[in-house]
Amino acid sequence: MAFPIKVCVVCSEEFELRQDKPGFANRCPACSEPESTEPVTNRPQSAEERKAEAEANEARRKAIRDLLYRKES
Ligand SMILES: [Zn+2]
Repeated sequence: MAFPIKVCVVCSEEFELRQDKPGFANRCPACSEPESTEPVTNRPQSAEERKAEAEANEARRKAIRDLLYRKES
């Protein structure tokens, strides 16, 4: 018995939609794995993650600025 062939919305790979396939019906088994790193960047971030990222960006900007000023002087 054949399973319907679906196209994964994440990686565009074709996969068999099995009855017992865990996860989303429009995602291939690999992309349904909760621990897999998704190629899409629009995953929801927590406030803490956002804050940590903002601080990391700020620190990076500061480091680059210091570097540039030091080169100019
Ligand atoms: Zn996929």
